[in-house]
Amino acid sequence: MLASPRVATEQEIRDVVVAQPRAGLPDLIERALAASGALLRGHFGLQVGKHTEYFIRFRALARDEQVLAAISGHLLSTITIPADAVVLVPESAGYFLGEAIRARAGASTTLAVARTDIERRPARSLLHGTIPAGRPVVVVNDVVTTGASLEPLLDLVGDQGGTVAAALVFGALDGTGFRAMLSRRRIAGDHLIEAGPAWAVMDPDRCTACAAGTPPLIPAAELN
Ligand SMILES: [Zn+2]
Repeated sequence: MLASPRVATEQEIRDVVVAQPRAGLPDLIERALAASGALLRGHFGLQVGKHTEYFIRFRALARDEQVLAAISGHLLSTITIPADAVVLVPESAGYFLGEAIRARAGASTTLAVARTDIERRPARSLLHGTIPAGRPVVVVNDVVTTGASLEPLLDLVGDQGGTVAAALVFGALDGTGFRAMLSRRRIAGDHLIEAGPAWAVMDPDRCTACAAGTPPLIPAAELN
C-alpha cells in the first residue's frame, strides 16, 4: 500500500529538525514549520538515492514572505556577498530562496537559473540569466543532503568562467557531509538547519519502510 504523506506534528518538528543555535533562529524555524505544514512525514526517496521518513516542502515555507526574508537574513548574516555577485539557483523550490537572497543582497546582484533534469536534479546548463566571466557567484538551494546535488551548479560556475563566492542552503540534512563538501571544494557556505538523530536518512537496503513493504515517493522533490 502507498501511504500518503501527512503533515508532521509540532512534537515531530521539535524531535527531528535541528536549527543552528543563533539568536531567534530555532524559534523561527519551529513556528514557520508548524504554521506552513512544510515538514511532511511519510516515506520519501531523495535525489541522492537515500530514503527518509521526513521531507521539507520548501515551497510551503517560502509562501510566507516574512519567513523567507528572515531565513535570507540569517543566511546573509554569516557571509559577505560581493556587490556584483550573481546568485545561481536551480529551477526548483530553491529559486524562491535565491530570489529572496538576491533582493536582499543589493541592487547590482543578479539571478541566474540552472536547468534541472527530469528527476529535478540541477543540470550543468543555464535556463535563464548569465554568469559573466570573472563574476563572483553565490550558489543557493533549499534543502540538500550532503550538498552533492549542488556540485553540478558549482561546476557550471566554473564552465562559465565565474568564481564561486559561497554556497548557501536553508537545510543540509547531513550537516557534517555538507561542511566536508564545502571544505573539499574550498568554498564558504552556510546552512540553517539539519536533520537531528531522530530523522533517519537511510540507504534503500536498510530502509525500515521499504522492509515493511511500503513503496517510497520518488523523487520526493515533486512535492515542492
Ligand atoms: Zn525506503
